[in-house]
Amino acid sequence: MTIPAVMPTYARVNISFERGEGAWLLANDGRRYLDFGCGIAVTALGHAHPHLVEALQDQAGKLWHCSNLYEIPGQHKLAQRLVDNSFADSVFFCNSGAEAMEGSLKLARRYQQVVKGQPQKNRVIVATEAFHGRTLATLAAGGSEKYRQGFGPMPEGFDRVAFGNLNEARVAVTEETAAILVEPIQGEGGINPPPEGYLRGLRQMADEFGLVLIMDEIQTGVGRTGKLFAHQWEEGAEPDVMAVAKGIGGGFPMAAFLAREEVAQALTPGTHGTTFGGNPLAMAVGNAVLDVMLADGFMEGVQSAAQDLWARLEGLVARHPRVLKGLRGKGLMIGLVCVAPNTQVLDAMRAEGMLAVPAGGNVVRVLPPLIIGKAEIDAAEVAIEAACARIEKEEG
Ligand SMILES: *Cc1c(COP(=O)(O)O)cnc(C)c1O
Repeated sequence: MTIPAVMPTYARVNISFERGEGAWLLANDGRRYLDFGCGIAVTALGHAHPHLVEALQDQAGKLWHCSNLYEIPGQHKLAQRLVDNSFADSVFFCNSGAEAMEGSLKLARRYQQVVKGQPQKNRVIVATEAFHGRTLATLAAGGSEKYRQGFGPMPEGFDRVAFGNLNEARVAVTEETAAILVEPIQGEGGINPPPEGYLRGLRQMADEFGLVLIMDEIQTGVGRTGKLFAHQWEEGAEPDVMAVAKGIGGGFPMAAFLAREEVAQALTPGTHGTTFGGNPLAMAVGNAVLDVMLADGFMEGVQSAAQDLWARLEGLVARHPRVLKGLRGKGLMIGLVCVAPNTQVLDAMRAEGMLAVPAGGNVVRVLPPLIIGKAEIDAAEVAIEAACARIEKEEG
């Protein structure tokens, strides 16, 4: 057998990194890379942010783990801050995005079945091109048939409709529908923002039919779009339940789901749990992330960096029509729609010292840390310009 000791589930780029600082990564071979992928939208405050490093180091010397059999003060503090800055009244902490999604789905079903006394309500309306994770239920909720291949049988209870189409969603509602689940802007699917009014329309639909509106803000949330949560850009579009992960730990694995009181009451002692979720290390880092993001002027800074970056990228699209054809997204969650294969664009960018992430729909995802300023944006423009020139030369 020649199977590698690490299971070969990823097509990895052959680079390893030694350290990171802000928007930059230093590889073991000495090369420096501008990191506009942040892992995949994870290191929201860049690498080795001094405030996060201090919070983690300080907590590491005191207490790592005590289990959820005891009070963890960091959970109360972080939950209260999330509640104070969102639609939600209550928070459950866990460890990964898929786990936050699973908890959200469990919560929605139990709310309908136990709190509302409607045991027939178990189905969830989900969208095409959606991505919600790699566990069985989140695979079933997601839009990728390929990801499900060979893993059946899938958990039941998901009805798929076209993302962005309110009419289709309405028609899909039955007596058994418990919830609607969407990403406010689809990430893996290709940075797909829905039409204006779609999220508000789903809110109204949920109210009309007594459904739980679940938003997967795992990629869009925690400042990525220039507001703490992406649905906050749209008036009257608040969910009942929201999953958060990626940026909330700034690179430390942690996640959460949040809910309105009416729905949250479905989870009473013993109904849900996790060993690692909400541990003191994660809570220390999560609170440190919010110290930075909730500071006066931080989101305005993200919005103004985004404005600058969008203008530069628009210039690049205009100058390189054989490589790039458009932009979509919001804030610092940007999809560069490619003409050349997105993998070729990413390879050329990497050769010019810049990292980004692929997505569906032949898109290069540009997901820089939220702390970028003019210097990083200048460097990105230079790298993408050179990458486009490289591809144009290769193509002749
Ligand atoms: C990354 C992601 C997930 C899955 O998160 P994991 O931590 O990998 O389980 C789910 N939904 C969205 C929108 C994501 O971007």
